[in-house]
Amino acid sequence: MATKQYKQLGCLDVDPSGQCAFQIRAETEDEVMRLVAEHGKACHKMASIPADMAAKVKAAIKTVPVSV
Ligand SMILES: [Zn+2]
Repeated sequence: MATKQYKQLGCLDVDPSGQCAFQIRAETEDEVMRLVAEHGKACHKMASIPADMAAKVKAAIKTVPVSV
């Protein structure tokens, strides 16, 4: 069994006062950002991710080991 490093981000990590428990896990930071943009559009009515939030998101991304 191997272990892979994944990037993980939860909506609550970025906005603790939000009620959204959505979690993202992806292999690269770029993929996380893409999924964040998609989720923001679908669930938070955000047409795009503002620069200050993108910085928050990047700071909140954790690297977690996942067994594959
Ligand atoms: Zn959310």
